[in-house]
Amino acid sequence: MTYNPRKIRLLMALRGAGVTDTRVLAAIERIPRELFVPDAFQDRAWEDVALPIDLGQTISQPLVVGLMTQALDLHPRHLVLEVGTGSGYQAAVLSRLCRRVFTIERLKPLLREAEARFKALDIGNITTRLGDGTRGWPEVAPFARILVTAAGGPEPPKDLTDQLAVGGVMVIPLGTDHRDQRVVRFRRSEAGLIREDLWPVRFVPLLSDPPQPVRSA
Ligand code: SAH
Repeated sequence: MTYNPRKIRLLMALRGAGVTDTRVLAAIERIPRELFVPDAFQDRAWEDVALPIDLGQTISQPLVVGLMTQALDLHPRHLVLEVGTGSGYQAAVLSRLCRRVFTIERLKPLLREAEARFKALDIGNITTRLGDGTRGWPEVAPFARILVTAAGGPEPPKDLTDQLAVGGVMVIPLGTDHRDQRVVRFRRSEAGLIREDLWPVRFVPLLSDPPQPVRSA
């Protein structure tokens, strides 16, 4: 691997800011963030900033990717659901730390680009879907881990909490308005969901598609 001083600096900054899990740091080191960032921002690919991608969306800040990934407490055998594929960067980082990532994006051009990146990087354990991720992925559920990378309302979507396995963990930014979002971690115990509010954050909104009209055959 070629020596990239910006990358080394970023990894040290992430560690200093609380990303102490060496497996998470190694995953971030291995995934070439420059491949997920638009041409116009190539020189900033290894800065600790969120950057714009197409259609008004963003690739998350590396620190946020690191902390959210760490908060998931992944195990190599886990099946992970990600809602909000975006550039595909977060999914690629997850793919190094679990058995399989199921990722859903509602904007087709973004999903197609992310798929091309997974292929170029020869990542074989990510399955993609175009659609509304707030419905989850019922055919695969339950998931050991769920990560939402767009900001929901005050409560997590019910379909997602329903698809969380007992013992499972979901990490999701929640908040009533743009200036007041927090990353929240839910654990499903036998008795129900345990909520833990983590740190403040700023994400693009989680948009649910309107319910489809019921069609008679
Ligand atoms: N994880 C991404 C960053 C996500 S930006 C990365 O690493 O680059 C948030 C993404 O969530 C956007 O691409 C947006 O289109 C998508 N999104 C918002 N609401 C959604 C929904 N209900 N279902 C699926 N994707 C959604």
